[in-house]
Amino acid sequence: MAIGEEILRRLRTQYRIQAEEYVSLYTHLQSRDPFRVLVATILSQNTTDKAALNALKTLEIDMGLTPSAILEAGRRRVEKAIRMAGMYRSKAKFLLEVSRTVVERYDGDLWNMLKGDAEEVRERLMALPGVGGKTADVLLATMGIAHTVPVDTHVRRVSARIGLVDEGASYERVRKRLEEVFSTDSRHLAHLLLIAHGRRVCRARRPLCGDCILNSLCKYYQNLKNQP
Ligand code: SF4
Repeated sequence: MAIGEEILRRLRTQYRIQAEEYVSLYTHLQSRDPFRVLVATILSQNTTDKAALNALKTLEIDMGLTPSAILEAGRRRVEKAIRMAGMYRSKAKFLLEVSRTVVERYDGDLWNMLKGDAEEVRERLMALPGVGGKTADVLLATMGIAHTVPVDTHVRRVSARIGLVDEGASYERVRKRLEEVFSTDSRHLAHLLLIAHGRRVCRARRPLCGDCILNSLCKYYQNLKNQP
């Protein structure tokens, strides 16, 4: 069995994906609205999904989750609503600029921006303020627009320790490598399962290698065992 399939098979026996633990997925399942998913993903940068979800709910209650509602509310109200998600000044600025772009260039509907070739859509998204490769990929994978493996801190750490990717590799190199490892229709699931594993077992500090379902496949673990 190919390594990607075997990793997925093992992780699937270990974890059930709970949508509430992934703010972008949860928002997608609740709304099917790409603008909301993009807002949720921007809010989740450098914070927990729980904090991002709370900020998203507050935004919705305080002003509504549409580009025009956010624009109308203005910077101060947006900052206040999303404060609990951290980096609220820069995130508020990004949300306002993204909202303005969607209103002025895409008729107020983010779907209009997501039409066409997936790579071109990705480029378009990454031209938005506050939207890097990871945020664009989370939106595209979550909405089923592109089959890719968004690389967050957990995905990177677990993949590097297993030996699938080099530790210092660029975002794009890691993403491309993981697209080789995981089949087209399993990539989003691989992203979610690797996050679950990184949160619970393959933690940044003191990973629980002895109890890890992947340890027989893992370079980091093999190296640990070979140490005198
Ligand atoms: S064996 Fe250790 S380092 Fe390897 S994946 Fe499991 S927890 Fe992570």
